[in-house]
Amino acid sequence: MAAKTKKAAAPKGGRKIPVTLIPGDGIGPEVTEATLEVLDAVGAPFEYEWHTAGVTGLKKEGDPLPKATLDSVRRTRLALKGPLATPVGGGFRSSNVRLREEFTLYANLRPARTLIPGGRYDNIDLVLVRENLEGLYVGFEHYIPVGDDPRAVALASGVNTRAGGRRICEFAFEYALRNGRKKVTLVHKANVLKALTGLFLEAGREVAKRYESKGITCDERIIDACAMQLVMNPYQFDVIVTTNLFGDILSDLNAGLVGGLGMAPAGNIGKDAAIFEAVHGSAPDIAGKGVANPLALMLSAAMMLDHVGYQEKAKRVQKAIDDVLLKDKVRTGDLGGKANTKQFTRAVVARVK
Ligand code: NAD
Repeated sequence: MAAKTKKAAAPKGGRKIPVTLIPGDGIGPEVTEATLEVLDAVGAPFEYEWHTAGVTGLKKEGDPLPKATLDSVRRTRLALKGPLATPVGGGFRSSNVRLREEFTLYANLRPARTLIPGGRYDNIDLVLVRENLEGLYVGFEHYIPVGDDPRAVALASGVNTRAGGRRICEFAFEYALRNGRKKVTLVHKANVLKALTGLFLEAGREVAKRYESKGITCDERIIDACAMQLVMNPYQFDVIVTTNLFGDILSDLNAGLVGGLGMAPAGNIGKDAAIFEAVHGSAPDIAGKGVANPLALMLSAAMMLDHVGYQEKAKRVQKAIDDVLLKDKVRTGDLGGKANTKQFTRAVVARVK
Protein backbone atom coordinates (compact mmCIF):
# COMPACT_ATOMS: atom_id res chain seq x y z
CA MET A 1 0.00 0.00 0.00
CA ALA A 2 1.27 3.45 -0.84
CA ALA A 3 1.70 6.28 1.63
CA LYS A 4 -1.78 7.67 2.18
CA THR A 5 -3.38 10.78 0.82
CA LYS A 6 -5.90 12.45 3.11
CA LYS A 7 -8.74 10.94 1.12
CA ALA A 8 -7.35 7.44 1.09
CA ALA A 9 -9.34 5.43 3.57
CA ALA A 10 -11.85 2.65 2.97
CA PRO A 11 -15.33 4.11 3.59
CA LYS A 12 -17.55 2.47 6.16
CA GLY A 13 -21.09 1.24 5.54
CA GLY A 14 -20.89 0.68 1.77
CA ARG A 15 -20.42 4.37 0.93
CA LYS A 16 -18.95 4.84 -2.53
CA ILE A 17 -15.63 6.58 -3.17
CA PRO A 18 -15.88 9.29 -5.87
CA VAL A 19 -13.26 8.99 -8.59
CA THR A 20 -12.61 11.36 -11.48
CA LEU A 21 -12.46 9.24 -14.61
CA ILE A 22 -10.55 10.63 -17.60
CA PRO A 23 -10.69 8.10 -20.46
CA GLY A 24 -8.28 10.25 -22.47
CA ASP A 25 -7.26 10.06 -26.12
CA GLY A 26 -6.62 7.36 -28.73
CA ILE A 27 -6.97 3.90 -27.18
CA GLY A 28 -7.83 5.57 -23.82
CA PRO A 29 -11.62 5.05 -24.06
CA GLU A 30 -11.19 1.38 -25.08
CA VAL A 31 -8.82 0.46 -22.26
CA THR A 32 -10.90 2.49 -19.79
CA GLU A 33 -14.10 0.63 -20.70
CA ALA A 34 -12.23 -2.67 -20.27
CA THR A 35 -10.85 -1.58 -16.89
CA LEU A 36 -14.28 -0.49 -15.64
CA GLU A 37 -15.64 -3.97 -16.42
CA VAL A 38 -12.93 -5.50 -14.26
CA LEU A 39 -13.49 -2.97 -11.45
CA ASP A 40 -17.22 -3.78 -11.52
CA ALA A 41 -16.51 -7.52 -11.47
CA VAL A 42 -14.29 -7.20 -8.39
CA GLY A 43 -16.90 -5.04 -6.62
CA ALA A 44 -14.80 -1.88 -6.50
CA PRO A 45 -16.44 0.76 -4.26
CA PHE A 46 -16.10 3.60 -6.76
CA GLU A 47 -18.54 6.05 -8.30
CA TYR A 48 -17.22 7.86 -11.34
CA GLU A 49 -17.27 11.47 -12.49
CA TRP A 50 -16.52 11.33 -16.22
CA HIS A 51 -14.32 14.13 -17.58
CA THR A 52 -12.11 14.99 -20.53
CA ALA A 53 -8.55 16.23 -21.02
CA GLY A 54 -5.86 16.22 -23.72
CA VAL A 55 -6.93 16.39 -27.36
CA THR A 56 -10.43 15.13 -26.44
CA GLY A 57 -10.74 17.97 -23.91
CA LEU A 58 -9.63 20.46 -26.55
CA LYS A 59 -12.13 19.13 -29.11
CA LYS A 60 -15.10 18.80 -26.77
CA GLU A 61 -14.57 21.68 -24.35
CA GLY A 62 -12.04 23.91 -26.05
CA ASP A 63 -9.36 23.21 -23.40
CA PRO A 64 -6.79 20.36 -23.00
CA LEU A 65 -7.36 20.59 -19.25
CA PRO A 66 -10.95 21.85 -18.78
CA LYS A 67 -11.94 23.62 -15.57
CA ALA A 68 -14.65 21.01 -14.92
CA THR A 69 -11.99 18.27 -14.93
CA LEU A 70 -9.77 20.19 -12.49
CA ASP A 71 -12.75 20.98 -10.25
CA SER A 72 -13.70 17.31 -10.19
CA VAL A 73 -10.19 16.20 -9.13
CA ARG A 74 -10.23 18.96 -6.50
CA ARG A 75 -13.40 17.39 -5.11
CA THR A 76 -12.61 13.69 -5.44
CA ARG A 77 -8.81 13.88 -4.94
CA LEU A 78 -8.62 10.58 -6.76
CA ALA A 79 -8.47 9.97 -10.51
CA LEU A 80 -8.03 7.17 -13.00
CA LYS A 81 -6.66 8.51 -16.25
CA GLY A 82 -6.17 7.13 -19.75
CA PRO A 83 -3.33 8.41 -21.96
CA LEU A 84 -3.44 12.02 -23.08
CA ALA A 85 -1.94 13.00 -26.43
CA THR A 86 0.44 15.98 -26.46
CA PRO A 87 1.53 17.75 -29.64
CA VAL A 88 5.30 17.54 -30.23
CA GLY A 89 7.19 20.84 -30.58
CA GLY A 90 4.47 23.51 -30.56
CA GLY A 91 0.85 23.29 -29.37
CA PHE A 92 -0.38 23.04 -25.80
CA ARG A 93 1.66 22.05 -22.75
CA SER A 94 1.35 18.44 -21.53
CA SER A 95 -1.86 18.03 -19.50
CA ASN A 96 -0.13 15.20 -17.61
CA VAL A 97 2.59 17.54 -16.34
CA ARG A 98 0.00 20.23 -15.51
CA LEU A 99 -2.06 17.75 -13.48
CA ARG A 100 1.02 16.71 -11.49
CA GLU A 101 1.88 20.32 -10.75
CA GLU A 102 -1.69 21.43 -10.03
CA PHE A 103 -2.23 18.73 -7.38
CA THR A 104 1.37 18.57 -6.08
CA LEU A 105 1.65 14.90 -7.02
CA TYR A 106 5.25 14.68 -5.88
CA ALA A 107 5.69 10.90 -5.97
CA ASN A 108 5.65 8.79 -9.09
CA LEU A 109 5.28 5.18 -8.02
CA ARG A 110 6.27 2.64 -10.68
CA PRO A 111 6.27 -1.04 -9.80
CA ALA A 112 7.99 -3.40 -12.27
CA ARG A 113 6.99 -7.04 -11.87
CA THR A 114 7.54 -9.98 -14.23
CA LEU A 115 4.17 -10.92 -15.72
CA ILE A 116 5.26 -13.33 -18.42
CA PRO A 117 8.29 -15.51 -17.64
CA GLY A 118 10.84 -16.43 -20.27
CA GLY A 119 12.17 -12.92 -20.89
CA ARG A 120 15.63 -11.71 -19.98
CA TYR A 121 14.87 -12.18 -16.27
CA ASP A 122 12.14 -13.98 -14.33
CA ASN A 123 10.64 -13.05 -10.98
CA ILE A 124 11.54 -9.38 -11.06
CA ASP A 125 9.69 -7.42 -8.41
CA LEU A 126 11.09 -3.89 -8.17
CA VAL A 127 9.51 -0.59 -7.16
CA LEU A 128 10.81 2.75 -8.33
CA VAL A 129 9.84 5.94 -6.53
CA ARG A 130 10.59 8.99 -8.67
CA GLU A 131 10.45 12.58 -7.46
CA ASN A 132 7.88 14.12 -9.79
CA LEU A 133 8.09 17.91 -9.39
CA GLU A 134 11.67 19.12 -8.88
CA GLY A 135 15.13 18.65 -10.39
CA LEU A 136 15.92 19.48 -13.99
CA TYR A 137 12.25 19.20 -14.96
CA VAL A 138 11.29 22.57 -13.52
CA GLY A 139 11.89 23.96 -17.01
CA PHE A 140 14.27 26.85 -16.17
CA GLU A 141 16.05 26.86 -19.51
CA HIS A 142 17.44 29.53 -21.78
CA TYR A 143 19.97 30.28 -24.51
CA ILE A 144 22.84 32.78 -24.52
CA PRO A 145 23.66 34.38 -27.88
CA VAL A 146 27.32 34.68 -28.91
CA GLY A 147 28.23 36.65 -32.02
CA ASP A 148 25.68 35.91 -34.72
CA ASP A 149 24.51 32.64 -33.12
CA PRO A 150 21.43 33.33 -30.94
CA ARG A 151 21.64 29.81 -29.51
CA ALA A 152 25.38 29.49 -28.97
CA VAL A 153 24.98 28.37 -25.33
CA ALA A 154 22.11 26.50 -23.65
CA LEU A 155 21.55 26.69 -19.92
CA ALA A 156 19.27 24.66 -17.67
CA SER A 157 18.87 25.01 -13.90
CA GLY A 158 17.76 22.15 -11.68
CA VAL A 159 16.00 22.85 -8.41
CA ASN A 160 16.01 20.36 -5.56
CA THR A 161 14.89 21.35 -2.09
CA ARG A 162 15.68 19.71 1.24
CA ALA A 163 11.95 19.56 1.94
CA GLY A 164 11.31 17.91 -1.45
CA GLY A 165 14.09 15.34 -0.87
CA ARG A 166 12.79 14.55 2.60
CA ARG A 167 9.22 14.25 1.32
CA ILE A 168 10.04 11.79 -1.50
CA CYS A 169 12.37 9.70 0.68
CA GLU A 170 9.79 9.53 3.46
CA PHE A 171 7.29 8.33 0.85
CA ALA A 172 9.69 5.60 -0.31
CA PHE A 173 10.57 4.36 3.19
CA GLU A 174 6.93 4.46 4.27
CA TYR A 175 6.00 2.53 1.13
CA ALA A 176 8.68 -0.07 1.95
CA LEU A 177 7.42 -0.41 5.51
CA ARG A 178 3.75 -0.78 4.56
CA ASN A 179 4.46 -3.28 1.82
CA GLY A 180 6.83 -5.65 3.59
CA ARG A 181 9.85 -4.49 1.62
CA LYS A 182 13.28 -4.66 3.21
CA LYS A 183 15.57 -2.20 1.50
CA VAL A 184 15.52 1.28 -0.03
CA THR A 185 18.32 2.37 -2.38
CA LEU A 186 19.03 6.10 -2.68
CA VAL A 187 20.17 6.86 -6.25
CA HIS A 188 22.11 10.09 -6.88
CA LYS A 189 25.04 11.73 -8.65
CA ALA A 190 26.41 13.56 -5.65
CA ASN A 191 30.02 12.93 -6.73
CA VAL A 192 29.56 15.45 -9.57
CA LEU A 193 26.31 17.36 -8.95
CA LYS A 194 27.37 17.93 -5.37
CA ALA A 195 24.72 20.50 -4.49
CA LEU A 196 21.78 19.44 -6.66
CA THR A 197 21.81 15.73 -5.89
CA GLY A 198 24.01 15.98 -2.80
CA LEU A 199 21.12 17.70 -1.03
CA PHE A 200 18.79 14.86 -2.04
CA LEU A 201 21.29 12.32 -0.67
CA GLU A 202 21.65 14.26 2.58
CA ALA A 203 17.88 14.33 3.05
CA GLY A 204 17.64 10.61 2.17
CA ARG A 205 20.31 9.61 4.71
CA GLU A 206 18.53 11.58 7.42
CA VAL A 207 15.20 9.85 6.63
CA ALA A 208 16.91 6.42 6.44
CA LYS A 209 18.13 6.74 10.06
CA ARG A 210 14.53 6.97 11.26
CA TYR A 211 13.65 3.68 9.58
CA GLU A 212 16.66 1.63 10.76
CA SER A 213 14.86 0.51 13.90
CA LYS A 214 11.80 -0.39 11.79
CA GLY A 215 13.74 -3.00 9.83
CA ILE A 216 14.23 -1.08 6.57
CA THR A 217 17.84 -0.98 5.46
CA CYS A 218 19.22 1.66 3.17
CA ASP A 219 21.99 1.69 0.63
CA GLU A 220 23.23 4.16 -1.96
CA ARG A 221 24.21 4.03 -5.64
CA ILE A 222 25.54 6.56 -8.11
CA ILE A 223 23.12 6.68 -11.04
CA ASP A 224 25.49 5.33 -13.69
CA ALA A 225 26.58 2.37 -11.57
CA CYS A 226 22.96 1.75 -10.64
CA ALA A 227 21.93 1.54 -14.31
CA MET A 228 24.63 -1.03 -14.99
CA GLN A 229 23.84 -3.07 -11.88
CA LEU A 230 20.12 -3.12 -12.71
CA VAL A 231 20.96 -4.72 -16.05
CA MET A 232 23.57 -7.14 -14.60
CA ASN A 233 21.72 -8.23 -11.46
CA PRO A 234 18.36 -6.55 -10.76
CA TYR A 235 17.65 -8.87 -7.82
CA GLN A 236 19.97 -6.85 -5.56
CA PHE A 237 17.39 -4.01 -5.58
CA ASP A 238 14.05 -3.73 -3.81
CA VAL A 239 12.70 -0.15 -3.59
CA ILE A 240 14.66 2.57 -5.41
CA VAL A 241 14.13 6.27 -4.73
CA THR A 242 15.66 9.01 -6.84
CA THR A 243 15.33 12.49 -8.31
CA ASN A 244 13.15 13.42 -11.28
CA LEU A 245 15.39 12.94 -14.33
CA PHE A 246 17.17 9.81 -13.02
CA GLY A 247 13.79 8.39 -12.03
CA ASP A 248 12.37 9.03 -15.48
CA ILE A 249 15.19 7.05 -17.07
CA LEU A 250 15.42 4.25 -14.51
CA SER A 251 11.67 3.60 -14.50
CA ASP A 252 11.80 2.88 -18.24
CA LEU A 253 14.88 0.73 -17.70
CA ASN A 254 12.96 -1.28 -15.08
CA ALA A 255 9.97 -1.61 -17.42
CA GLY A 256 12.38 -2.96 -20.05
CA LEU A 257 13.55 -5.63 -17.58
CA VAL A 258 10.00 -7.01 -17.40
CA GLY A 259 8.98 -6.78 -21.04
CA GLY A 260 8.39 -3.12 -21.86
CA LEU A 261 6.24 -0.10 -21.17
CA GLY A 262 3.01 -1.68 -22.46
CA MET A 263 2.52 -3.53 -19.19
CA ALA A 264 3.58 -0.80 -16.78
CA PRO A 265 1.17 0.83 -14.31
CA ALA A 266 1.86 4.03 -12.38
CA GLY A 267 0.55 6.18 -9.58
CA ASN A 268 1.16 9.92 -9.23
CA ILE A 269 0.69 10.53 -5.56
CA GLY A 270 0.59 13.64 -3.39
CA LYS A 271 -0.54 14.54 0.11
CA ASP A 272 -3.99 15.61 -1.03
CA ALA A 273 -4.62 13.72 -4.26
CA ALA A 274 -3.57 10.75 -6.38
CA ILE A 275 -3.88 10.02 -10.08
CA PHE A 276 -3.38 6.50 -11.46
CA GLU A 277 -2.51 5.86 -15.10
CA ALA A 278 -0.95 3.40 -17.52
CA VAL A 279 2.55 4.39 -18.55
CA HIS A 280 1.94 3.89 -22.30
CA GLY A 281 0.59 6.61 -24.58
CA SER A 282 -2.54 6.99 -26.69
CA ALA A 283 -1.29 4.58 -29.42
CA PRO A 284 -2.92 6.46 -32.32
CA ASP A 285 -1.82 3.71 -34.75
CA ILE A 286 -4.25 1.17 -33.23
CA ALA A 287 -6.92 3.49 -31.76
CA GLY A 288 -10.49 2.41 -32.50
CA LYS A 289 -9.47 -1.05 -33.75
CA GLY A 290 -10.40 -2.89 -30.56
CA VAL A 291 -6.99 -4.55 -30.23
CA ALA A 292 -5.35 -2.45 -27.49
CA ASN A 293 -3.94 -4.21 -24.45
CA PRO A 294 -5.87 -2.89 -21.40
CA LEU A 295 -3.61 -4.64 -18.87
CA ALA A 296 -1.57 -1.61 -17.79
CA LEU A 297 -4.63 0.48 -16.94
CA MET A 298 -6.18 -2.51 -15.15
CA LEU A 299 -3.01 -2.79 -13.03
CA SER A 300 -3.13 0.97 -12.39
CA ALA A 301 -6.72 0.55 -11.20
CA ALA A 302 -5.48 -2.23 -8.88
CA MET A 303 -2.91 0.24 -7.49
CA MET A 304 -5.79 2.69 -6.91
CA LEU A 305 -7.77 0.02 -5.02
CA ASP A 306 -4.70 -0.68 -2.91
CA HIS A 307 -4.20 3.03 -2.29
CA VAL A 308 -7.69 3.50 -0.87
CA GLY A 309 -7.41 0.47 1.40
CA TYR A 310 -8.88 -2.36 -0.67
CA GLN A 311 -5.77 -4.57 -0.76
CA GLU A 312 -7.69 -7.82 -1.17
CA LYS A 313 -9.55 -6.54 -4.25
CA ALA A 314 -6.32 -5.16 -5.68
CA LYS A 315 -4.64 -8.56 -5.27
CA ARG A 316 -7.61 -10.29 -6.94
CA VAL A 317 -7.24 -8.09 -10.02
CA GLN A 318 -3.47 -8.73 -10.16
CA LYS A 319 -3.93 -12.47 -9.70
CA ALA A 320 -6.67 -12.61 -12.35
CA ILE A 321 -4.34 -10.92 -14.85
CA ASP A 322 -1.50 -13.33 -13.95
CA ASP A 323 -3.81 -16.33 -14.43
CA VAL A 324 -5.19 -15.06 -17.74
CA LEU A 325 -1.68 -14.54 -19.10
CA LEU A 326 -0.08 -17.70 -17.71
CA LYS A 327 -2.80 -20.32 -17.23
CA ASP A 328 -5.41 -19.34 -19.83
CA LYS A 329 -2.70 -18.07 -22.18
CA VAL A 330 -5.04 -15.33 -23.40
CA ARG A 331 -2.89 -12.42 -24.63
CA THR A 332 -3.33 -9.44 -26.89
CA GLY A 333 -1.34 -8.95 -30.11
CA ASP A 334 1.39 -6.80 -28.53
CA LEU A 335 2.21 -9.80 -26.28
CA GLY A 336 2.23 -12.24 -29.18
CA GLY A 337 -1.34 -13.44 -28.62
CA LYS A 338 -4.49 -13.36 -30.73
CA ALA A 339 -7.04 -11.90 -28.31
CA ASN A 340 -8.63 -8.52 -28.92
CA THR A 341 -9.40 -6.07 -26.11
CA LYS A 342 -12.87 -7.51 -25.42
CA GLN A 343 -11.70 -11.16 -25.36
CA PHE A 344 -8.86 -10.34 -22.99
CA THR A 345 -11.22 -8.35 -20.75
CA ARG A 346 -13.78 -11.16 -20.70
CA ALA A 347 -11.05 -13.57 -19.59
CA VAL A 348 -9.94 -11.26 -16.74
CA VAL A 349 -13.54 -10.69 -15.62
CA ALA A 350 -14.12 -14.48 -15.52
CA ARG A 351 -10.99 -14.97 -13.38
CA VAL A 352 -11.83 -12.08 -11.04
CA LYS A 353 -15.26 -13.53 -10.39
P1 NAD B 1 2.51 5.06 -27.36
O1 NAD B 1 2.75 4.39 -26.04
O2 NAD B 1 1.18 5.65 -27.56
O3 NAD B 1 2.77 4.00 -28.54
C1 NAD B 1 4.02 3.35 -28.79
C2 NAD B 1 3.75 1.98 -29.46
O4 NAD B 1 3.23 1.07 -28.47
C3 NAD B 1 2.70 2.04 -30.59
O5 NAD B 1 3.06 1.16 -31.60
C4 NAD B 1 1.42 1.58 -29.92
O6 NAD B 1 0.52 0.96 -30.79
C5 NAD B 1 1.96 0.59 -28.87
N1 NAD B 1 1.08 0.57 -27.69
C6 NAD B 1 1.02 1.50 -26.70
N2 NAD B 1 0.11 1.15 -25.79
C7 NAD B 1 -0.41 -0.02 -26.21
C8 NAD B 1 -1.42 -0.88 -25.69
N3 NAD B 1 -2.05 -0.60 -24.54
N4 NAD B 1 -1.73 -2.01 -26.36
C9 NAD B 1 -1.09 -2.31 -27.52
N5 NAD B 1 -0.13 -1.54 -28.07
C10 NAD B 1 0.20 -0.41 -27.42
O7 NAD B 1 3.67 6.14 -27.52
P2 NAD B 1 3.79 7.34 -28.60
O8 NAD B 1 3.35 6.84 -29.93
O9 NAD B 1 5.15 7.85 -28.39
O10 NAD B 1 2.79 8.45 -28.09
C11 NAD B 1 1.50 8.69 -28.65
C12 NAD B 1 0.83 9.84 -27.89
O11 NAD B 1 0.63 9.47 -26.51
C13 NAD B 1 1.65 11.12 -27.89
O12 NAD B 1 0.79 12.22 -28.10
C14 NAD B 1 2.23 11.19 -26.48
O13 NAD B 1 2.44 12.52 -26.05
C15 NAD B 1 1.14 10.51 -25.68
N6 NAD B 1 1.62 9.90 -24.40
C16 NAD B 1 0.83 10.05 -23.32
C17 NAD B 1 1.19 9.46 -22.10
C18 NAD B 1 0.29 9.63 -20.90
O14 NAD B 1 -0.77 10.21 -21.01
N7 NAD B 1 0.68 9.15 -19.73
C19 NAD B 1 2.36 8.70 -22.03
C20 NAD B 1 3.15 8.54 -23.18
C21 NAD B 1 2.77 9.15 -24.37
